[in-house]
Amino acid sequence: MDIEAPEEAKELPKIQRLDESVVNRIAAGEVIQRPVSAVKELVENSLDASSTSISVVVKDGGLKLIQVSDDGHGIRHEDLPILCERHTTSKLSKYEDLQSIKSMGFRGEALASMTYVGHVTVTTITKGQLHGYRVSYRDGMMEHEPKACAAVKGTQIMVENLFYNMIARRKTLQNSADDYTKIVDVLSRFAIHHIDVSFSCRKPFLSLLCYQHGAARADVHSVATSSRLDAIRSVYGLSVARNLIKIEASDNDPSRSVFEMDGFISNSNYVVKKTTMVLFINDRLVECTALKRALEIVYSATLPKASKPFIYMSIILPPEHVDVNVHPTKREVSLLNQEVIIEKIQSLVESMLRNSNDSRTFQEQTVESSPSVPSITNNESHLNPSPSGSKSQKVPVHKMVRTDSSDPAGRLHAYLYKKPQNHLEMNSSLTAVRSSVRQRRNLKETADLTSVQELIDVIDSKCHSGLLDIVRQCTYVGMADDVFALLQHNTHLYLANVVNLSKELMYQQVLRRFAHFNAIQLSESAPLQELIMLALKEEELDLEGNENDDLKMKIAEMNTQLLKQKAEMLEEYFCIFIDSDGNLSRLPILLDQYTPDMDRVPEFLLCLGNDW
Ligand code: ADP
Ligand code: MG
Repeated sequence: MDIEAPEEAKELPKIQRLDESVVNRIAAGEVIQRPVSAVKELVENSLDASSTSISVVVKDGGLKLIQVSDDGHGIRHEDLPILCERHTTSKLSKYEDLQSIKSMGFRGEALASMTYVGHVTVTTITKGQLHGYRVSYRDGMMEHEPKACAAVKGTQIMVENLFYNMIARRKTLQNSADDYTKIVDVLSRFAIHHIDVSFSCRKPFLSLLCYQHGAARADVHSVATSSRLDAIRSVYGLSVARNLIKIEASDNDPSRSVFEMDGFISNSNYVVKKTTMVLFINDRLVECTALKRALEIVYSATLPKASKPFIYMSIILPPEHVDVNVHPTKREVSLLNQEVIIEKIQSLVESMLRNSNDSRTFQEQTVESSPSVPSITNNESHLNPSPSGSKSQKVPVHKMVRTDSSDPAGRLHAYLYKKPQNHLEMNSSLTAVRSSVRQRRNLKETADLTSVQELIDVIDSKCHSGLLDIVRQCTYVGMADDVFALLQHNTHLYLANVVNLSKELMYQQVLRRFAHFNAIQLSESAPLQELIMLALKEEELDLEGNENDDLKMKIAEMNTQLLKQKAEMLEEYFCIFIDSDGNLSRLPILLDQYTPDMDRVPEFLLCLGNDW
């Protein structure tokens, strides 16, 4: 009988305990699989902190920078030392709490993980505090004591150089299409579920463009609203929103299933090749492949065209029926009586689709005269036909030019100053516009300064009457792409470069309202120096180190001094109000009913100082 060779035993692998930092990094790589997972975790933290406004900035698909700012309750100063240690959380204290957990986070792993695979900086202020704190973390630990700093309400978390120490992961991510579209997708989903929260997501500005010009607009930009359909319309666009059916279902029989579901599903007029399924279970953004498949089958079986659905669905179950702890990124949850619930939803969707199929409607370009809006001038009584139902239709907020072409206030020229030909005409024109435009400004529209008047004269002398007529009379049809809008004038269609048109409009508005602007009052005045610092940091993220910080501080300080010196003039001519402590509290309204993107104020102030 052969006995096994003793050499083989020697070759058996030896088990050894991994170094803690290795363990942590491996675990971190599981929680933060890609930049989009970091964004999701950070946004969930902001939601858990009862924020009403969350803005995200992403550079290089998130590998260079992810920055999430919220206006939530902030983090207590005394919690900062352990904030990024693994398994430190304010949301769970004992295992049983998991059964009734309402918050999205509970493991206290996300921030910790980010510090093992990236450089994390937290700026936060809690209610009633005079100043906030900023502190950076590496490998779960603070790199230094928290530094006092000026801060706006809430928390800002910045993750830089994600996966700097995971070469293979970084390379794969760099080679694959960047995560930015995934990030925009996740934020769009949050935006249509949490409709009482405003979301924005954008890349940092590449160059210093004036903030009004909007060339680097947010790619998600939702404002808090009370209507889910409005939210869907502003995020996913009109073509989705107008083809949705409301859906609701519930069951309350513990022997079968207990749940409540509501949502919107696309009808038979919606034809696309890819399913969009936005699913929230107990307010968690999750995926459920079984439910998705079940609904896709219904769509392909019921509808004539092989169309894929758009589905937004929110399912609420008793917390103890949901196991939220089955996936490292919490992407999936497991439900009690999952099959029964899916079946119920599936048959409801099927019957609704069959009904909608029977009463299938076709989008027609009906020509109907515009509703009875007061006309601005005599010419206006021959308004061009507007697309049907344009009053209630909306385009995505970030693509919005004028939402309502049939409304005189929605016409471009309602904003343009026109020399009245006679007194009567001026009166009727003003009443009409005033009825719908928030009009509070001084009637005397132009400043008395000759230099400004000269610039206005140049504009007036160069004015092309034919083009002016087109702009004045046209009907806005829609955006052809990000830059060009389709305008209809009589029987002609025109492509107009909206970016250029807006720049020109803003410029002319500034001249015409010079020294007579109305004000946008900021809810809290904001420290100039801090804002300029923000802009400088966004501008030059590549440069690191304290020396550069010092330089930036100096630039910010000098610009603030300069603007403070010019405060009186800025206020009188431009309605930019800066108090003696260097806080900004008012900005001019260039266009009525248009609020500029406030995220871009730092950049605007930097321009203002630099270009003086
Ligand atoms: P979890 O969310 O599972 O608790 P995290 O690592 O994501 O774990 O966050 C740790 C803790 O940090 C949270 O429990 C919360 O108290 C605090 N926190 C994180 N982000 C924010 C934020 N944006 N606002 C307020 N508190 C936050
Ligand atoms: Mg969390």
